[in-house]
Amino acid sequence: MPITPAVSETGDPLLLTPGPLTTSRTVKQAMVHDWGSRDATFLKINRAVLDRIVEIAGGVGTHVTVPMQGSGTFAVEAMLTTFVPRDGKILLLVNGAYGQRATKICAVAGRAHQVLETPEDTPPSLAKLEETLAADPSITHVFAVHCETTSGILNPIRQIAGVVATHGRRLLVDSMSAFGALEIDAGAVPYDALAASSNKCLEGVPGMGFVVCRLDALKAAKGNATTVVLDLHEQWQAFERTGQWRFTPPIHVIVSLHQAIEEHRAEGGVKGRGARYAANCKILIDGMAKLGFRPLLPADLQAPIIVTFHMPTHAAFKFQAFYDGLKDRGYVIYPGKLTVADSFRIGCIGRITPEQMKGAIAAVAEVLADMGVTLKKAA
Ligand SMILES: *Cc1c(COP(=O)(O)O)cnc(C)c1O
Repeated sequence: MPITPAVSETGDPLLLTPGPLTTSRTVKQAMVHDWGSRDATFLKINRAVLDRIVEIAGGVGTHVTVPMQGSGTFAVEAMLTTFVPRDGKILLLVNGAYGQRATKICAVAGRAHQVLETPEDTPPSLAKLEETLAADPSITHVFAVHCETTSGILNPIRQIAGVVATHGRRLLVDSMSAFGALEIDAGAVPYDALAASSNKCLEGVPGMGFVVCRLDALKAAKGNATTVVLDLHEQWQAFERTGQWRFTPPIHVIVSLHQAIEEHRAEGGVKGRGARYAANCKILIDGMAKLGFRPLLPADLQAPIIVTFHMPTHAAFKFQAFYDGLKDRGYVIYPGKLTVADSFRIGCIGRITPEQMKGAIAAVAEVLADMGVTLKKAA
């Protein structure tokens, strides 16, 4: 029987990946115009995007958004090298590839740093954090990843922020794969800066990162940067002086992000978006469990963003054939990135409905049947 593959609103395969993600037709349609970088209409849209991000962050009056051209990592590197002074020292909480990437950024930028690492399926130890900060007064900053997309683990960002604040240090957060879907209220979780991007839970297209900065901390960061382009203080100053970007803005990305943020608001903001992702995640985990797949993480550590499954050990299970079979049916999944276990990942985020997630589970069942694989269910 020929297969009719699942498609997005624009006829494309559904991306069950950690980003770039499936976006709505209207988000993509917002881009079919040209604007000059000094165009008043564009600058108004740009201002609205920056202001709306501060509102989503819960930082109105205390925080500002500084955008950065490029992918999310550009924003993380801008955050680390703008906020950590040249004579500062940063403690990085690492339990996956994105924590490791931040560590590499600090090493290349010549910032003194120390790493507290836990396995990919284990949150950072708050006791160890406490102990390390108490023992080393030269540590000025702490870096943490909100949802470590490597595994999909939800790190205890509120508790981490509490410990960091108690010790009078400054927190820098990579909330790339969580911001917009998981609550992190700037009024309740003290941080100096939080990095995210256009193409994850806000469901825009890729091309822009941004850093939500506590205004007082940003002002104090003048002169810290060790690159020209990633200097968030200078980038912010340009907006203050002229309302314009310093260098060519990713105009189409910004205009479509404006549309994406309208759709985020229409869905009920962080709560509404988070609820749909949680529904997708539950359908995914329950459906896969029925077929005999085991998730890496226990439910209390799992963020409703992306789920890591153990690779089945059945002799007839071939990942490439599994991947291709799903792709033929309109679902694009993601290989694993773990070192602790052989695995693959399926994302819950992007313009994906719970109905479509049920379709993905049905497709997984079909592909298993085609391969002649029946997995033993967990007892
Ligand atoms: C996606 C992501 C990033 C940024 O990755 P890019 O490929 O540069 O967009 C950073 N941190 C986390 C946790 C992410 O999920």
